Amino acid sequence: MREVASVAELRDVLEAARREGSTIGFVPTMGYLHAGHLSLVERAASECDLVLASIFVNPLQFGIGEDLDAYPRDLAGDRESAERAGVDVLFVPSTAEMYPEPVATTVTVAGVSERFEGASRPTHFAGVATVVAKLFSLSGPCRAYFGEKDFQQVAVVRRMVSDLSIPVEVVACPTVREDDGLAMSSRNAYLDPAQRAAAPVLHRALSVGEQMIREGVTHADEVRVAMTEVVAAEPLAELDYLEVVDPVALEPVGPIRVLADRPVRLLGAVRIGATRLLDNVGTVVPAEAGR
Ligand code: AMP
Repeated sequence: MREVASVAELRDVLEAARREGSTIGFVPTMGYLHAGHLSLVERAASECDLVLASIFVNPLQFGIGEDLDAYPRDLAGDRESAERAGVDVLFVPSTAEMYPEPVATTVTVAGVSERFEGASRPTHFAGVATVVAKLFSLSGPCRAYFGEKDFQQVAVVRRMVSDLSIPVEVVACPTVREDDGLAMSSRNAYLDPAQRAAAPVLHRALSVGEQMIREGVTHADEVRVAMTEVVAAEPLAELDYLEVVDPVALEPVGPIRVLADRPVRLLGAVRIGATRLLDNVGTVVPAEAGR
């Protein structure tokens, strides 16, 4: 594995690989790698000749008072797990390398950025879209692997890539979970033992909603209420949102049915102590639902 800290060196390495005809798979991360990140690396390695991963805790996507300084970091551990999972080039730029001067250019994706995470964290997705646009400009044409765990982020990135004709194919990969259903996340490290024990409540709530839809419930309100009750029963969890949405526009739906061949998605976020947890699940909508 080759570690690269500068933009110029990254461009050189990737240009040389492309000249030899190699396809590039790119996994952007903020580090503190866990099995969820590594599943993206493994998928990229199985589909591309060269795997590029980046580790950059992007200040632009943290709001004032959020956990930028506290965000967990373990570069030595990340190097080892990245190499073991199949990363060929690890890009670890400093903030000064990525942003030599304060950025004057920001990418904003209207609509899909505005609800849910965008409502709770108003500057978050502009920070994500801006850094991902920059990373794609550095990577050049590639397949880029993102986790469905951050479902709205995937929708934002897809829309940006489409609107700006960026030559990158976005690949969304399934969420990797702990045995009790909790979606793996670098931020799970913030949870104390009692909070960790409470944390699977979000996935439990989403699973209740998913089962109701599978069994034919067609009113999104009913599903929303049932999911909310699950979270309300956990004293350590404070609900942010639980919704039934169209998986592309991320608009809440009324009647549950298959929209243009895509089943609805269940999205949720809860706060446990100071930690916000996100999760989502796909659904299988019975053929007769909503008719
Ligand atoms: P992060 O380091 O949190 O910015 O995440 C980097 C990438 O890993 C993003 O595309 C995330 O969606 C993805 N990711 C994070 N957690 C998981 C997980 N549990 N399963 C699959 N992908 C994940």
